[in-house]
Formats: sequence, structure tokens, C-alpha cells
Amino acid sequence: MPASPLWHPYAQMQTQPVPPTVVGGQGAHFTLAGGERLLDATCSWWCMIHGYGHPRLVAAIQAQAETLCHVMLGGLSHEPAQRLAEALVRITPPGLDHVFFSDSGSVGMEVAMKMAVQYQVLEGRPEKHRMLSLMRAYHGDTSGCMAVCDPEEGMHSLFAGFLPSHPFAPAPTAPYDAPPEAVAADIQALRATLEAHHHEVAALLMEPLLQAAGGLNMTSPHYLRAARELCDEFDVLLVFDEVATGFGRTGRMFAADHAGVTPDIMVLSKGLTGGYLGHAATLATGRVYDAFLSDDPNHAFMHGPTFMGNPLACRVALESLAVFEEEDYLGKIAGLNAILRAELLEDAALNAHPAVNEARVLGATAVIEVKEAASLDGAQAFARERGVWLRPFGRWLYTMPAYITTPEEMRRITGAMKAWFLER
Ligand code: PLP
Repeated sequence: MPASPLWHPYAQMQTQPVPPTVVGGQGAHFTLAGGERLLDATCSWWCMIHGYGHPRLVAAIQAQAETLCHVMLGGLSHEPAQRLAEALVRITPPGLDHVFFSDSGSVGMEVAMKMAVQYQVLEGRPEKHRMLSLMRAYHGDTSGCMAVCDPEEGMHSLFAGFLPSHPFAPAPTAPYDAPPEAVAADIQALRATLEAHHHEVAALLMEPLLQAAGGLNMTSPHYLRAARELCDEFDVLLVFDEVATGFGRTGRMFAADHAGVTPDIMVLSKGLTGGYLGHAATLATGRVYDAFLSDDPNHAFMHGPTFMGNPLACRVALESLAVFEEEDYLGKIAGLNAILRAELLEDAALNAHPAVNEARVLGATAVIEVKEAASLDGAQAFARERGVWLRPFGRWLYTMPAYITTPEEMRRITGAMKAWFLER
């Protein structure tokens, strides 16, 4: 008998049959069975933007649970979903006027891809049924999403024989603040891939500005503007996966806002409910939506998961947005950004350390990239002894804190990250 029947993701169950067990959380900290209290530098994987146990979010779920817990949106509607759709249209880039709900980032991306393919079919171009995505991309773990993740990355290569093949463009390399001429090579590479594949491509998918799981690759707003122009030129839809970047993570409400670009389709999840319930939204412009309008019932969008638009998730998402706006989260994010820059970008000893390649910061996100993955072996246990929960992977030691993280807590996180290099 195993120690527990619970099978954990991306975990070698032989070496660690029962990972540390979380029993509670408050603010930016969670507590393990046995009483150890840890400062969560990962925001529970990009999503707990309000931290744990936020009274307004908890109360919103409780109130909704007493009223209505589930509606099958096929054939019926409900008010929390209608109100959330209106709120998302109000805050997202202009032109994204229609909202389709689902229950996770991966499924939100599946919806985006199916929407793009069906759009092309309805427009009389069924041959445009493949996706173009970027190397270093991560869009989720479902089959459709795996097929558009970086094909050279180890995590999904086992499944190569099972997945459809799609074209990829090189990952952009010019950093966030690169002048336009320094982004020209990235744009040219994207143009060349589109020239070769546009006739078969329904949509270009990208994580705008920040390729998250692909090593926190922070890229230029010029690249987003060029992607918009190239998609128009080659008649390909542009899909922004803002599952990780949405809701302030890059310093603006959405990464698209840095470039003033409206994609044809945009996917949100993670921060949408502050991580309190699984939820996702796929937004589309009128150009996409109108193609589905017809007397023919077969032109309706062919997707309808049982748990889409769950009333509890919609209600807590509405409360999350209200807290975000009323408590000036963009101001809080700017404060965290200033600390991250001072502590990581301006630390000469850290940047001169022989193991370190570079440090990068964007909004409330920071990464120390090392030259060899092995130099992060043991970094998690080291930080844990200092009361900080880090989750290094590959060559990246990073933080994406909850926005309610105090300046003292933020410095405790960067202190643990730096101490791994400078104090051993
Ligand atoms: N897209 C991006 C950019 C992500 O970072 C993730 C998850 O980390 C996903 C999609 C998949 O979301 P989920 O894990 O909710 O399925």
C-alpha cells in the first residue's frame, strides 16, 4: 500500500509519496501540518493574488453558495455569469466584447483554439486549421494544449506520437525595454514562419510579454504590435494567452495593454478568481463572434462543458475584481516592482556571481536565471529553512508574489533568493 492514494502531478511518487501537507493559509503565508509557516513566493502558481483567506472573497463564495451553486449554461443563463462577462468586457482591451467561460486555463485555451478553427471553417477556409505558436510556449496540459507547447521541452515530449503536429516560430529574444531596431530580428523570424505556414494556420498563439513556464522569458511590446500587424496581413487570428500575465502580473492590468494591442481572442484564468475557484474566460472580438451568427444551428460554437460559468466562480471573480480596483492593486504591484528591481537588478554581487546568467523583473514577477540547472539543486530546501516557499525549475529561481505581500515580506523573499548565491 502506498503512503497515500493521492497521486500528485509532475511528482516522482517513489521519492516523495506524500509532499508537505498544507492545512491553512492567511495573507501571503500558508501553514503546513506540524505548524511550519511559509511565505509563498509563487502565489500558489500565479493565482492567489489576494493571498490566502481574504475575508471578502470567502464571504462572496459563502453568499453565493446559499443562493445558487450550479447552472448548466446550455439553454439556461444566470446573473453572476452575465455580470462577470460585462465586467471583463469593461476592463480588457477595446473590442473584446464577447465572453465564453470554462473552468481552467488549459480548457480556456482549448476553447480559443476551437473557436479559431470553427471561425475559419465558417468563413469558408477549412484548410486553415492548424495553430502557430512560439518555441518556449506553455499553454496547458490537455492534449490540444500540449501540441502547441514547446516541442523540445521535456515535459510533453513523451506524448509526441499521440499529438497533432503544428508549426512553431522562434521564441522572441529581445527584452522588454529593447529599442524597436533590436526587435527586428524576432519580428522577421515571425514573418518568415507566417509566410511559410499562413495558408494552413487558423491562429497565432502567444503568451504576450512573458513566456511563463518557458523560463520567465520577458519580451518586448514592439513584438506584440508587430504580431498584430502580421496576423492582419496574413489573415490569421491572434490569440493572447493571458492565463499567467492577466490581472496585473506584468504591471498593467493585461500584458496587451503595454502595447495597446487588441488580440482577436484572449484567454484569462488564474488571477480571475484570485485562485479561490477554478475558472477561465475566453474573450473574442465582434469579428470572431459575428461569424458564428446564422439561421443554421450547426454554426453555433460547438463547445459546452458542464462546469462552465459556475455561479460560485463567477461571483468570487466579481468580488476579486472589486477588491483589485478598490484597493489599488496596480499601485501595490508598482511598489513590489520597485523592491524587486532594487533587490535583484541592482545587486552587483548577485549579478556578478559566476553561477548567475542574469536577473529579470517585469511587474510583480522576477527571475534569477542561472547558467546550469544543477546550481539550483537544494535551493528550495535552503529557502524553506528561511521560512520562504520557492519552487525552482530548470535554470530559473523566481518569484511571482501575491499582491498583498508587504515590503518586508517581499524583501524576505528576495533575501532568500539572493542568500542561495551569496551566503553559502
Ligand atoms: N497558459 C499559461 C500561460 C499558463 O501559465 C498555464 C498554467 O500554468 C496554462 C495556460 C494552463 O492553465 P491551467 O493549469 O489552469 O490548466
